[in-house]
Amino acid sequence: MRIVVLAGGTGSAKLLRGLQGEVEEFTVISNVGDNFWHKGLFICPDIDIALYTLAGVADTVKGWGIEKDTFNVLAQLAALGEETWFGLGDKDLATHIFRTVQLSRGRRLGAVTSDLARRLGVRQDVMPCTDDSLETHVVTIEEGVEETLHLQEFWVRKRGQPEVKDVVYVGAEKAVANPKALAALEAAERIILCPANPVTSILPILAVRGFRDAIENSKARRVAVSPMIGFGPVSGPAGKMMKGLGHGSDSLSVARLYKGLLDCMIIDSSDAIQKGAIEREGTQVSLGSTLMSNREKERELASSVLSA
Ligand code: GDP
Repeated sequence: MRIVVLAGGTGSAKLLRGLQGEVEEFTVISNVGDNFWHKGLFICPDIDIALYTLAGVADTVKGWGIEKDTFNVLAQLAALGEETWFGLGDKDLATHIFRTVQLSRGRRLGAVTSDLARRLGVRQDVMPCTDDSLETHVVTIEEGVEETLHLQEFWVRKRGQPEVKDVVYVGAEKAVANPKALAALEAAERIILCPANPVTSILPILAVRGFRDAIENSKARRVAVSPMIGFGPVSGPAGKMMKGLGHGSDSLSVARLYKGLLDCMIIDSSDAIQKGAIEREGTQVSLGSTLMSNREKERELASSVLSA
């Protein structure tokens, strides 16, 4: 079965690890909206967490970076008086340096990502949705002052505290879809939308011309796992962002956002009450245990995603 997975960060990584236990091959299309330049380096948090997870070296406690990494460079930067709000481990820095050097030689992000995957020993295909610049910016209000922040500044530097007024995908109209990613989607027999922040992980991918149409018109079985349990996300700012954009923060609201893109959504059994309403929106519902609190749960959910 040709499987294509749309992935963001932490929630997605857990499902990717589960899938890896169930099937040999799949293609991961990564969000790029949280990519950013920092300390002169091009950092791709969602691509990296997918790579590190599939390579078996991710720091699963922090949810980012490489396990057992050290932070000597960051500590020295702090000693030099530099801002260090974005965590960068020493081994993790090697990835960012490798990528930035390769990009500066004129290589494209997709090619560099494939290269990194191979060198890290990842057997699955991991690719960005686009090689072009696409940044998720959050329009915030704090003490009456409106400010537009890059997603990383909103979530990491400002700890997600400001009120969210809007979210924009800067560069999305001009971004050209990664042709390999689009071809994989078109050939897919199963398309999986990971449990991810809909606003900052899935919608940026869909904002790149070609992806929404490819999924809408696909004959593949299209399955999503809701990132919400009850009236909020399992983790992160997805609820705050959904509300800021005028949506609810439950699985029904996610299903509405993904209307036309899904055949089936897996929601937590504790949200069974939402099943009827989601099915009236045109998406079948499968009930399951969607909280991936350990490896076994990750595999169980992955198995459900492959059979739903
Ligand atoms: P992040 O926001 O940068 O961490 O990246 P993601 O797009 O991956 O967002 C994480 C999303 O995954 C959040 O909306 C969480 O609610 C969701 N999530 C994290 N862990 C789990 C889990 O174990 N189960 C489910 N269903 N969702 C999860």
